[in-house]
Amino acid sequence: MELWQQMLRQSIDSADDLVRRFNFDKETAERLNSLFHIRINPYYLSLIRYPGDPIWLQSMPNAVELEDDGLPEDPLNEDGDSPVPSITHRYPDRVLFLVTSQCSMYCRFCTRKRKVSDSTKISMKFIQDGLDYIRAHTEVRDVIVSGGDPLMLTDIMLEKVLKGLREIPHVEIIRVHTKMPAVLPQRITPQLIEMMKKYHPIYVNVHFNHPWECTPEAKHACDLLADGGFPLGNQMVLMKGVNDDPDVVKDLNRKLLVMRVRPYYIYQADMVKSTNHFRTPIRVGLEIMDKLRGHTSGLAVPYFVIDAPGGGGKIPILPQYVLYHDDEKIVLRNYKYEVFEYDEKKGETGPIQTEVDARFLRKAPVIMRERKRRVSKRKARASVNPQVPLAEVEPDKPIQ
Ligand code: SF4
Repeated sequence: MELWQQMLRQSIDSADDLVRRFNFDKETAERLNSLFHIRINPYYLSLIRYPGDPIWLQSMPNAVELEDDGLPEDPLNEDGDSPVPSITHRYPDRVLFLVTSQCSMYCRFCTRKRKVSDSTKISMKFIQDGLDYIRAHTEVRDVIVSGGDPLMLTDIMLEKVLKGLREIPHVEIIRVHTKMPAVLPQRITPQLIEMMKKYHPIYVNVHFNHPWECTPEAKHACDLLADGGFPLGNQMVLMKGVNDDPDVVKDLNRKLLVMRVRPYYIYQADMVKSTNHFRTPIRVGLEIMDKLRGHTSGLAVPYFVIDAPGGGGKIPILPQYVLYHDDEKIVLRNYKYEVFEYDEKKGETGPIQTEVDARFLRKAPVIMRERKRRVSKRKARASVNPQVPLAEVEPDKPIQ
């Protein structure tokens, strides 16, 4: 048995463990465990510094999960786009392929907790159906291998999946989504890398949520993956008390880059049943993005996305940088809240104001919209009444 498998065996994974080691009330522990299975492996447990810290919050059950928050089990409607149990086919050329229900740590915020940890819903027995579906759908060129955590499969079983995919001619790229480098980095072994290398191109998306997860062990795991030629991207979920702070996210993203992992997405937490206590207002994510762009290297700036409820897919959202835009020019503000105008006719740019009151900037889009509305009204009047002087239909100075 490999080290990571031995470590898994020593996980906290029952209500009794919670009662014995963390003083949980027995009934509460049992209800939490039946709501979503508990598993915290000894490596991840060792990262906890104090109860309630960002590592604790992600892994330790919380009695508030038992409150009825009225949220759905499948907010992204993945099951609605699922032609066979192991596949979600939502986008034109790519599919999500679920190959295991198991994870080395069950994240309390998991979007897929309705299935994860339940081997009757995701298991190896559905894999052949998934491969058959992908083979029959020649438009699929990109397959996201997920679960659960696909690296919970043994090397032999994972190889069956990767080999099966590589034998399908229209599959161009494979993406493996795994939390192992963050939660059980011992899983990334030289043997695993040698096996996976045979099935390139494979991209690996990892899932770090807090800088404390960027340990020497995690760095070693990411080094092995990067040296094996797997481009690494990170998907972070924004969560109250975990990473809802621009400095924490900046620190995390810088550490990830040192580990050769490119920050890829920040997700607004999904509206999943029993996870309401993690959710932050949208403005928190926008503020984080505002404090990243321009303040640190562009490589450390991911997309902030909302996975649209009901199955609309990922939609990026940005802080307000465009203050005004018409056919002739665009007025923008930069990361220091300085305002610039780009003249589309002349192709020139230049600062028009260096110090801008932040309160004004918040109002600027409204002012500009109102101005645009007035101008188009005047233009409309001019087109029916040639008496209106042309000068009157031009906008005045961009911003005063
Ligand atoms: S590793 Fe991924 S699938 Fe598993 S519990 Fe965490 S978020 Fe869910």
